[in-house]
Amino acid sequence: MKLYEYESKEIASRYGILVPRGRVVVSPSEAYSVARELGVVVLKAQVLVGGRGLAGGVRIAESPEEAYNIAEKLLSTSIRGERVEKLLVEEKVCISRELYLSLIVDRAARRPVYLISEMGGVEIEELAKKYPEKIHRVYVDPGIGYTDYIARVSLQVLKLPWTLLQDIANTTRAMYKIMVDYDAELVEFNPLALTCDNRLIALDAKIIIDDNSLYKHPELQRLYGRDLSEYEKRARELGFSYVELDGDIGVISNGAGLTMATMDSILYYGGKPANFLDIGGGAHRESVREAVKLMLTHPRSRVLLINIFGGITRCDEVAIGIIEAIREIGLIKPIIVRMLGTNEEEGRRILREQGIEVYSEMDDAVKVAVELSKR
Ligand code: GDP
Ligand code: MN
Repeated sequence: MKLYEYESKEIASRYGILVPRGRVVVSPSEAYSVARELGVVVLKAQVLVGGRGLAGGVRIAESPEEAYNIAEKLLSTSIRGERVEKLLVEEKVCISRELYLSLIVDRAARRPVYLISEMGGVEIEELAKKYPEKIHRVYVDPGIGYTDYIARVSLQVLKLPWTLLQDIANTTRAMYKIMVDYDAELVEFNPLALTCDNRLIALDAKIIIDDNSLYKHPELQRLYGRDLSEYEKRARELGFSYVELDGDIGVISNGAGLTMATMDSILYYGGKPANFLDIGGGAHRESVREAVKLMLTHPRSRVLLINIFGGITRCDEVAIGIIEAIREIGLIKPIIVRMLGTNEEEGRRILREQGIEVYSEMDDAVKVAVELSKR
């Protein structure tokens, strides 16, 4: 689960990391009064998408009146499709350099790694593309945990004066503690600013917590699911595993293995999955119907590929579910079915009767789906 900037900063601050003074507001008049208290302020749209600065979601106000006006505008807009409901109003900090510092879990290396760069302020993905050599990595042995060596490397990579060793150590140590305490997948400060008076302050903060550990933090578990799309929420209510992707082929499959193989095959044949939904084992017609309805109405997908291996799942049940869904909402986009296994003959017959082609080979079905997605 992604935390908002203000939530991430609240945690960071509790762990001793310096953050700008500020408050979260939901109305222009609140922004006005915070500005009156803090002077020149920065108003920051609280959305979970990155790059708010470039999208106009980070604005400086010189006076309370200006803060009022900017807040009014920001609170009535969306940033990259996400409605702005809250603003963080903070004192404007005088910065001399913008640095990048994060701690992530490197799954392949099976350990946390600090990413450190003196070129903060730009998105790390961008930086990684343009100047990969500008990102320094320090791996941490989880059996050993945090050591002060990390602070000394950070200091050097960030070209900070030795007088800041204690400050950078406090920051890097706190980041590690946050990662462990919250089972965080990411703790990021971008920028971590070096102020005009030589202090380190987290100007932006982002923490992502592993959903599987939310039960340890009841205050966060209550928020579980708030960052999901409507589709993800609906799929979850229906009891399916659903994942949103960015292509244009919708995929329904059964079982994690077959679903992953379907993704691979789509990519192999030059297509891009829009999402995938795993109906699980032994799905009945009702749940297949709901799954198909959900997936047919997905706005980005242009074709729906259904790949079923019938074991405990019966192909005829799946076929009936598909037909029922089409009866309810219409065949609003092409459906390609591949099915094999239990009651396959009956399933095929039901679908063909309604004019839906059924393939036995996954490759054949995928090729057709990819082709249709490009028309
Ligand atoms: P993001 O674009 O969503 O990552 O939003 P950030 O919180 O990182 O802000 C974007 C940029 O706004 C930063 O890189 C800074 O250049 C600038 N900015 C944000 N807060 C301040 C501030 O207090 N003082 C100054 N001078 N610049 C700021
Ligand atoms: Mn940022």
